[in-house]
Amino acid sequence: MEITNKQKELFSSLLIDWHSVDNKRSLPWKNEKDPYRIWLSEILLQQTRALQALSYYLNFIDAYPTISDLANAQDDDVFRLWQGLGYYNRCKNMLQTARYIANELNGNFPNTYIDLLLLKGIGPYTAAAIASFAYNLPHAVVDGNVYRVLARYFGIDIPIDTGEGKKLFADLANGLLNKENPANYNQAIMDLGATVCLPANAQCTACFLANNCIASKQDSISLLPVKSKKTKVRTRFFHYILFVKEEKIWIQKRTEKDIWQNLHEPYLIEHNQPLSLTELQIQETFKTINIPAEELNYLGASKQKLSHQIIEARFFLAKINKEKSINLINGSWLTQSEQKKIAFPKTVFSFLQNNFILLFFLIVNCLI
Ligand code: SF4
Repeated sequence: MEITNKQKELFSSLLIDWHSVDNKRSLPWKNEKDPYRIWLSEILLQQTRALQALSYYLNFIDAYPTISDLANAQDDDVFRLWQGLGYYNRCKNMLQTARYIANELNGNFPNTYIDLLLLKGIGPYTAAAIASFAYNLPHAVVDGNVYRVLARYFGIDIPIDTGEGKKLFADLANGLLNKENPANYNQAIMDLGATVCLPANAQCTACFLANNCIASKQDSISLLPVKSKKTKVRTRFFHYILFVKEEKIWIQKRTEKDIWQNLHEPYLIEHNQPLSLTELQIQETFKTINIPAEELNYLGASKQKLSHQIIEARFFLAKINKEKSINLINGSWLTQSEQKKIAFPKTVFSFLQNNFILLFFLIVNCLI
């Protein structure tokens, strides 16, 4: 499809007019010029809604006002602050990049698009955001909001997850960019996607683009943008055993290259299907721990949806007599106050928190 220069100019000027007069979206990182703060906000916003990222942003800025503060922080403290936000690789990459900039670049944030792209955890979108917001460099952001607005306004049905689609949208976005004020343009299109051209509930009647928007005119809003592949989601079954001994719970760190790397959890038995109490007790991994089967109790279950996985977690309690030694390696017995200093996956954290009274009762009972 051919998009004329006139169509592009109209889109850009309508967008900038809206941004200067009617865009009321207010967020603490908007109009920010400090590359550290912009980078932090963009990392937090990846795969996360602005409303959810907001409190995390404020907490991070409060705890680590400069990149050196973040670089010098303890891993566990940073992961604990990140807890609940998901996609923990972002946190790991963020720490690595902070330390690289603080130690190798004397704390100076790179100031070109290409140098930004070289940093861990920074892709074309984040590099364009930092380059334009901090340094006013002419690089267009292309994220989910931008795909949606452009696909609908120009009526583009080429799948956004193909090489052809990615190139087409990147070229179009850069062609539409206001080179005099890329920061304003990028902010405007992101805000439009986040507040007006919403994924499931586009506000066309209130949209200043409606008269020229192809999807609005052709009633094809729900069909755009197009994706070629459906995300495959697999379900995993986690069986957590809370070993409790003298007011402490046995906790291990997840070190494998898998979801939740660097977070903490109770003893885990993963299986390809949910196991009942009896089935769990006959698992080889359970038998090696060397505790009598009758000391195991079912506590409850929870479920957490990730982008490509569903985690169905079941929780069991095993009260361990203080004299008894059991076969557990690579973990530690932690008190409640020690547990507060480390990060847990959301499903584990919520379960421990929601069942605190029950657990406390059982722990006290097990000491009698
Ligand atoms: S008119 Fe509707 S579909 Fe078109 S850009 Fe505006 S909100 Fe999106």
